[in-house]
Amino acid sequence: MIKRGYWSKLERSPSQASLLATLALLLWLSGCNSTPPNSQTQSSSLTETTSTTAQRNQEKKVILTTFTVLADMAQNVAGDKAIVESITKIGSEIHGYEPTPSDLVRGQEADLILDNGLNLERWAEKFYNSLPEVPHITLTEGIQSVEIAEDAYKNKPNPHAWMSPQNALIYVENIRKALVDLDPQNADTYNANAKTYSEKIKELDQKLQKELATLPPNQRYMATCEGAFSYIIRDYGLKELYLWPVNAERQGTPQQTAKVIEVVKENQVPAVFCESTVNDEAQRQVAKESGARFGGVFYVDSLSGPDGPAPTYLKLMERNVTTLINGLQGR
Ligand SMILES: [Zn+2]
Repeated sequence: MIKRGYWSKLERSPSQASLLATLALLLWLSGCNSTPPNSQTQSSSLTETTSTTAQRNQEKKVILTTFTVLADMAQNVAGDKAIVESITKIGSEIHGYEPTPSDLVRGQEADLILDNGLNLERWAEKFYNSLPEVPHITLTEGIQSVEIAEDAYKNKPNPHAWMSPQNALIYVENIRKALVDLDPQNADTYNANAKTYSEKIKELDQKLQKELATLPPNQRYMATCEGAFSYIIRDYGLKELYLWPVNAERQGTPQQTAKVIEVVKENQVPAVFCESTVNDEAQRQVAKESGARFGGVFYVDSLSGPDGPAPTYLKLMERNVTTLINGLQGR
């Protein structure tokens, strides 16, 4: 479902687009969320519109996503028919990200923005207020969310829904629908790509199910920095232990660390882990004081670089499960 805006990109000339971007930028910098004065800009260059409409029709659609994992999913559905880019870079902290003026210009030039929703992107509302003409779609629509158990976010949905392959299938279906609506000329390609990619996600789900079933019941703890694993834990019958519920101001406090040390000792959890986008200092302290090993790095809120261990969503999920099993089993 399109939540905001309308499909006006084709009627807009490049000069209007850049004028709008400049206006949006000024509004952004002044902290003002009112809409740009479209009525003035739309009447400025009607003579250019006919030729540029034809040119733009030949161009590929530009899709922005809020973070790299969604960009990979969307690229798999888009194939070579659309340009997909992430607003946040590889390794960025995505919850409390602050968009830059150049993000705003990119946003203004995009045909569609795909976000996660479930309060993941705390910066999105302000960002969208500055881009009133650019449609955006939330990919977790239709997903059964898991609630956060504690702290300031208690009873809010856990936003990390992509950490379940079953949920990833819903993301892919939402991406497919969005691309077909945006660009019906290439609908056949988007439908076929979504089908192929969904098959790969189903295979991944089966594979992870089998691998995790080999863990003995007393070794099923997934001890992490952020509580970003509620969905994988639900899907595969693991036990959850984390330092803080969601990346926010309070990360790795002495109280959070002491609590995890206690649970690790009590249950003889063999290994603890941390994620690639946060400071692992507190979790290393847990390892040191509890006698557990530090088992390595999970990828959740960002892919790795192209040469790293988690350059795609499918590889990210496989890598996390391998890291978990190897860490718990001391390999
Ligand atoms: Zn997160």
